[in-house]
Amino acid sequence: DKKELGTLRQSLPSWVEASIPCSVNGKVASYIPELSKAPHDALGITILAPDGESVSAGDCSQVFTMQSISKVFTLILALMDNGEDEVFKRVGMEPTGDNFNSMLKLELVRPGIPFNPFINAGAITVTSLIHGRNMEEKSQRILNLFHSLTGKDELAYDIDVFNSELESGDLNRSIAYFLKGNQVLIGDVDEVLDIYFRHCSILVQCADLARMGLILAFDGMDPLTGNRLLPKRYVQIAKTFMTTCGMYNASGEFAIDVGLPAKSGVSGGILSLVPGRYGIGVIGPSLNDKGNSQAGVHLLEIVSKQMNWSMF
Ligand code: GLN
Repeated sequence: DKKELGTLRQSLPSWVEASIPCSVNGKVASYIPELSKAPHDALGITILAPDGESVSAGDCSQVFTMQSISKVFTLILALMDNGEDEVFKRVGMEPTGDNFNSMLKLELVRPGIPFNPFINAGAITVTSLIHGRNMEEKSQRILNLFHSLTGKDELAYDIDVFNSELESGDLNRSIAYFLKGNQVLIGDVDEVLDIYFRHCSILVQCADLARMGLILAFDGMDPLTGNRLLPKRYVQIAKTFMTTCGMYNASGEFAIDVGLPAKSGVSGGILSLVPGRYGIGVIGPSLNDKGNSQAGVHLLEIVSKQMNWSMF
């Protein structure tokens, strides 16, 4: 409502200022060399209301790659293409308690099914389930989904980040071969990884994440246009995973401190939402040891506590 947006407009800049010093305790991701060029202490946020009004503070002009945030939507697309039964034959529904790129639990659920769709193993499996006649068509279908969700008819890939991931992606490659060896991943590993790295390298800004978050907040309906873009049931599934696994092995702590569905990416982006009310996009490239934006998490904690937004 108007009063709440007024409070946000007044307070958000100081909450951003108060969170920036936290970046010092984190590190910009360097395992993808190209990502290490991001500004260490940048921090920006956009909060978007269903009437189209938005409040932004900090460096929200930053352009960054979506990384793991894209996994929320590739999951929804794979569900739309295959249905729940097919998808959940190949990927589980439980948090791991391990790092996002861990292989530790891959042998626990026979025949090597990843614990959930947001750890890399699960997300690579989900990407392999997306329909299309060839690699190009599959990537184009994913990009088209993001066009409709962001309301932008052009989104670019960061080709340098994409190439950097291709070159440095041996851990992801070994995960993919392991999945293929267990017949969890069907198809060509290089092709699946090309599609996976490509959707991770789609460039966005905080406002784009906020717009996508708003659509999730309204169960797949775009309140700005009145169009249904995603099926309600699949959005419900995605938001549940965001709550239980969206911040990887810090999801429990995030649920206690912030209490909102969220998904992070290693570029420092966080997509979050307040159900039925707002979409939120955050960028802060310096990461904590769980791979989540250090200052971004701190900022969301202040905002949620001050606005009393926790779902719990
Ligand atoms: N593209 C990244 C990877 O596969 C995504 C990981 C992330 O954002 N947590 O390592």
